[in-house]
Amino acid sequence: MTHIRNAVIYCRVSSARQLKEGHGLSSQESRCREYAKHKNYCVEAVFYDEGVSGGMVERPAMLELLDFIADRKPEETIVLIDDISRLARGLEAHLQLRTTIQQAGGKLESPSIEFGTDSDSMLVENLLASVSQHQREKNKEQVFNRMQARVKSGYWCFCPVPGYKYDKLPEHGKILVKQEPVASIIREGLEGFASNRFETQTDIKRFFESFEAFPTDKKGRVSHQRVADILTKPLYAGYLSVPKWNIYMHPAKHEALISFATHQAIIDKIEKAARKPQQSFISDEFTLRGHISCSCCNQPMTAGMVKGRSKKYPYYWCSQKGCEKYGKVIKREAIDRDFNELLQSLRMPKDIFFLAQEALKMLWEKKRSNSSMDLGIVNQEKTKIEQKLDKLVDRLLDTDSPTLIKTYEKSIKQLEKQKVLLDEKLKIGRKRQPSFERAFKTALVWLTNPAVLWDTGCLADRKSLLKVLFTDNLRYDKESGFLNRPIAQPIRLCGLVGDGGTKMVEGAGFEPA
Ligand SMILES: [Zn+2]
Repeated sequence: MTHIRNAVIYCRVSSARQLKEGHGLSSQESRCREYAKHKNYCVEAVFYDEGVSGGMVERPAMLELLDFIADRKPEETIVLIDDISRLARGLEAHLQLRTTIQQAGGKLESPSIEFGTDSDSMLVENLLASVSQHQREKNKEQVFNRMQARVKSGYWCFCPVPGYKYDKLPEHGKILVKQEPVASIIREGLEGFASNRFETQTDIKRFFESFEAFPTDKKGRVSHQRVADILTKPLYAGYLSVPKWNIYMHPAKHEALISFATHQAIIDKIEKAARKPQQSFISDEFTLRGHISCSCCNQPMTAGMVKGRSKKYPYYWCSQKGCEKYGKVIKREAIDRDFNELLQSLRMPKDIFFLAQEALKMLWEKKRSNSSMDLGIVNQEKTKIEQKLDKLVDRLLDTDSPTLIKTYEKSIKQLEKQKVLLDEKLKIGRKRQPSFERAFKTALVWLTNPAVLWDTGCLADRKSLLKVLFTDNLRYDKESGFLNRPIAQPIRLCGLVGDGGTKMVEGAGFEPA
């Protein structure tokens, strides 16, 4: 023993858990140091890679190590590793790294195995690398099985979605809980989309972006994909779907933000929109387009910018060929001004407001008592569906035909969906209906002055206001203004007719003398 050989140590852990469980860097290092002492090597440097995955060949400390030993060439440096899985997890990556180390002037040694160049040593080494790869895949499988079992028992186990965060609760373990205020914003958005308060996905996007608390990208935007995900995730209705594991509509243990019926309404709306080409005539500049008819032929007028001598001007006009007023333009300003006047007149006097509130309250209470009677019918329906399901499952078990199996499975899926809906109806029915105040108060408040909502509202609000206030198109004449006031019955009952005089109470079809 005249010559003391030089060595370096390489240590690696891939996760914080390994660090904790004693496969940590220092224990690897001390095993290697012991081995070096035993072999009478001089340890010149120790290289650590933390938190890098075993599958990756590029690792910062490994690269440093390669540089280090390459500098010492032609002298050979011993590279010590504690155990073969520290080098690389896969067989291929292992062989690649081993060759690279050799080429850089290193010689691998380990306290746990002998790296040799003879065929026996190579076989052992390759076997060990394969075993370590197998172990890693096995671990993956186990994690996967655990996750699947977790989802099947009703718990989400992926990244939390917006509006939820993970919490540890004694009887559940790790479970999604609402994260306010985002949860409430999402609920309002989803319910608004289902009820057409927000007509398009872009409306929802804008709605989300209007809240500072809502998570956005660096530019303060919520992506269309994010909006689409939020709209279609059954998780918000209290169900889990993981298509890649063939898990569909599994009841979840976390608290839902919306009802299943709302979720279904959203899905239906999106599917319907996908079938129908987007109507593009709704634009901010001509909010009333589609709601104003020609005074002569009663067909909806079209609108657009018409070129004047030097500029373009906004106009409405009748586009019915053969109509007396065909192509005769009316300035947009004129119609907008008259419409604003009309809205101003639709203001509910305070005393009538209270009367209307009482009347609606009575209707609401009546509806509430009726709904308890409907529960019996829902229960009967549910029993019928359950019987049908049982029969289908029997038939499914009896058949070997792939076509029939497919058909049965489709029907079963459909029936299960219906069952979920009925279950929910029953649940809601048993719960108390929301109080009158919660259901109608806001609606009533803006009905006291619709013009305010019109002025401040976005396009979607304006559109829904038009739908709520009027049962029909407004007929407009260039000389006489609006010819009719097709005010919706409930609004008229509420006394939502103002200064226009008592004649207005006649409502639809009213023509000025
Ligand atoms: Zn016309």
